[in-house]
Amino acid sequence: MKHNFGAGPGILPHEVLKQAAAAVVDFNGIGLSLLEISHRSAEFEAVLDEAVKLVKELLGVPEGYSVLFLQGGASTQFAMVPYNLLPEGGKAAYLESGVWANKALKEAKFFGEVEVVATSKESNFTYIPKDFTIPADAAYFHITSNNTIYGTQLHEFFPSPIPVVCDMSSDIFSRKINVADFGIIYAGAQKNMGPAGTTLVIIKDEILGKSGRKIPAMLNYQTQIEGGSMYNTPPVFAIYVSMLTLNWLKSKGGVEAIAKENVAKSKVLYEEIDRNPLFKPVCAVEDRSDMNVCFVAENPEHEKPFLKLCDEKGIVGIKGHRSVGGFRASIYNALPITSIYVLIDAMREFAEKNS
Ligand SMILES: *Cc1c(COP(=O)(O)O)cnc(C)c1O
Repeated sequence: MKHNFGAGPGILPHEVLKQAAAAVVDFNGIGLSLLEISHRSAEFEAVLDEAVKLVKELLGVPEGYSVLFLQGGASTQFAMVPYNLLPEGGKAAYLESGVWANKALKEAKFFGEVEVVATSKESNFTYIPKDFTIPADAAYFHITSNNTIYGTQLHEFFPSPIPVVCDMSSDIFSRKINVADFGIIYAGAQKNMGPAGTTLVIIKDEILGKSGRKIPAMLNYQTQIEGGSMYNTPPVFAIYVSMLTLNWLKSKGGVEAIAKENVAKSKVLYEEIDRNPLFKPVCAVEDRSDMNVCFVAENPEHEKPFLKLCDEKGIVGIKGHRSVGGFRASIYNALPITSIYVLIDAMREFAEKNS
């Protein structure tokens, strides 16, 4: 077995993969594959209902919110959010805490004025800006809860006079959140929820219908809500595997239980990075992510040989994003702490050989 530290598509629980594989051949013993039955069949409707139910249960989604499984990835949400919420001539506020936040605000510029309330671009996004005011006259305030590429995470959310829209692609279901604090939460499934191909969107219904825009059906949240995520053929496989993964999470005790494990996992790894003389962290300590742990070698010449050692130990997906360099250990829900210990042992072995 490999130790999968890949950033996304990320690790999924092995038992989920086995169940998914079986359903591709014969779904629930009906003699047909999950992939060759109607999305309007009772069998698939039960899957979608169960997936929505699990999202509501695991995150404690209150009344007045809709849960959608859409397509197009988080990147389509970058455009869908302003299309639905930003009136002609209106303004939206964005916190620029990384490349994904930057891509989101660029899309919003197609629809209206964008006020960037703060940015940490000048430091290559090694911290999350916290000193700013949210303009009360903007239609919404957009944030990214976990900056996958840089390894920073919002450990507290900002009180806001306007609806908060949050890209939670890389830390949804990793910790407890208060859904009532948000107007929209969205997340591409492929980091911490399931396979690529579906995007979870949780919307407070009352914020819709205020932009006055004419919106094409597929990009209109209202159409998607009315169609129950089935305005057109939904991504059946991605929804099914997400449902299995959420069920696995529930069986492990849910979000609060996994959050404890996630904190324990990141803590031991950061301790080793801080202690080991050959490696150093890259981000502000208070903003360190529990999902993506970024670090570099003190001596850049050590990077290649360390990656080679990792490869020998079955540690995969650890190379940092090209815009940061070094290493990134993505330690999503399904990664067991035993994999973290294998990585720590490799770091210690490497330090012994090279210092
Ligand atoms: C990966 C990622 C995205 C892009 O997701 P797609 O589903 O590929 O469009 C957006 N935001 C964040 C925070 C991400 O980690």
